[in-house]
Amino acid sequence: MADFIYLDHAATTPLDPVVLATMQPYFTELFYNPSSHYAPAEANRRTLDAAREVCATLLNVRPSEIIFTSGGSESDNLALKGVMAGWKNLGMERRHLITTPVEHHAVLYAAKNLEEQGYEVTYLPVDHTGRIDPAHVEQAIRSDTALISVMTANNEIGTLEPIAEIGKIAHHYGIPFHTDAVQAAGLLALDLAALNLDLLSLSAHKFYGPRGVGLLYLRRGTPFASQIQGGSQERHRRAGTENLPGIVGLATALRLAYRDLEENKRHVTKLRDKLIAGVVERLPRAMLTGAEPPLRLPNHASFCFRGVNGEAILLGLEEYGILCSSGSACAAGSTEPSHVLTALGLDEGLARTAVRFTLGRTTTAAEIECLLSILPEVVERFVVG
Ligand SMILES: *Cc1c(COP(=O)(O)O)cnc(C)c1O
Repeated sequence: MADFIYLDHAATTPLDPVVLATMQPYFTELFYNPSSHYAPAEANRRTLDAAREVCATLLNVRPSEIIFTSGGSESDNLALKGVMAGWKNLGMERRHLITTPVEHHAVLYAAKNLEEQGYEVTYLPVDHTGRIDPAHVEQAIRSDTALISVMTANNEIGTLEPIAEIGKIAHHYGIPFHTDAVQAAGLLALDLAALNLDLLSLSAHKFYGPRGVGLLYLRRGTPFASQIQGGSQERHRRAGTENLPGIVGLATALRLAYRDLEENKRHVTKLRDKLIAGVVERLPRAMLTGAEPPLRLPNHASFCFRGVNGEAILLGLEEYGILCSSGSACAAGSTEPSHVLTALGLDEGLARTAVRFTLGRTTTAAEIECLLSILPEVVERFVVG
């Protein structure tokens, strides 16, 4: 790892060794199914309950409102499909979803899937920084609106959405409000009791926890129907033998994320500001995409480099051991320009010049200096016009 400068923390983060240590026994000697009834299994049940309690306390919600899942994608799908099905089970004709065109594909494609089933989806307009206007949320609300889903922080451009204001509107109209907070965990203090949120998605591997585990907060009383049938785990809301090592890791990672939040935020903000200032100063063709600080994630810097192919820049930087991305690991290699950048009104050509740098706990000032010393040469090497 020391050989690389890793600036792609929005794609995934390295597992914290402390987190790994808390997980390890549950892979080996403490392997028991928490639903079995002998003593060591019941001890695992208590461990599971304690992990749920930790997550609930940190988020300021009830333990019964936490559903453990396999990660951000499942939580997002479960939120959208679960709430839609929940209204239907109540016999209510609520067939309208409000979301944004800049969501992660886990929300966007779940919304598409619902559209294919006859639901109607409103995609709110965004400004040139990717922010939505809460007034547009209010205008989009209909008598049959079932759910509003707006992300907390954008993975590609770092823009923060006004979720507190949207929550107030949703609450006023009695419409459930979901947010994908996957990028925000560990960087923004999420206090759900203060936010008028009904559902929230998190994924452990985005905050130094393990891959393949996440959670969905589901406020008590929100219309909801399980989307994975089977055992009675997670209070019949998500069947499947619990991923106890993963859940223990998630709880530890969330605890550390909250404990170190201010320090981590200060650390990445300082380096990120230096990175943005350095890039803008050295490269006149660079344009910051997304919102200016403080309306963006503290660890996030994303740019378009006019006249230069973004993929070429990535390859050029990788020659120097610098790892970053065009904006979305999930869409990498696809020939389509980013749906987020095109939603901002960027033309396809410009959208293909995008490069994203996302910093983490272990990022150093020397690494940012190194990037800044190399970037101009790499960018200028690939200028086409
Ligand atoms: C990474 C990410 C997801 C998907 O999470 P997984 O755990 O990888 O499925 C969803 N939303 C956002 C904003 C993300 O950054």
